[in-house]
Amino acid sequence: MNIEHLYRQVIMDHYKSPKNKGIVADNSYMTVHLNNPSCGDEMTVQVKVQDHIITDVKHQGTGCSICCSSASVMSVTLKDHTIVEAQAILHEFYELIKGYPFNQEILTGDAIVYQGVSQFPARVKCATLAWKAAEQAIIKIKEGKTNG
Ligand code: ZN
Repeated sequence: MNIEHLYRQVIMDHYKSPKNKGIVADNSYMTVHLNNPSCGDEMTVQVKVQDHIITDVKHQGTGCSICCSSASVMSVTLKDHTIVEAQAILHEFYELIKGYPFNQEILTGDAIVYQGVSQFPARVKCATLAWKAAEQAIIKIKEGKTNG
């Protein structure tokens, strides 16, 4: 099995059996909705922070396998990290998506399977949509904003 095949398998696993999928009606979560018109992806992400730690991440959306699988990977990757750590992880993920060197001690786990996306500029927005939504939610929480 070559590495590209392995990566494709991880992406399909998250697409078929996403982690943390589903939106909750709970105002303690910060909710951000983003879309990607170029591919038709729609993504809603919810982030819950308690004492500066991301205690839960939820996502729900429709779109391509890259976008939907990436939301699942994002939720697993950011959960249980502090806000500061999560922002560092987000930064490293964007570096990886652009095909730049990234810090493998900060960005760990399944997220590295999106490394190959840098070769397909049209898919970069698909791979980053859920991560951008989570980033916006974190920024809003840092600014002390609430939903609505
Ligand atoms: Zn897409």
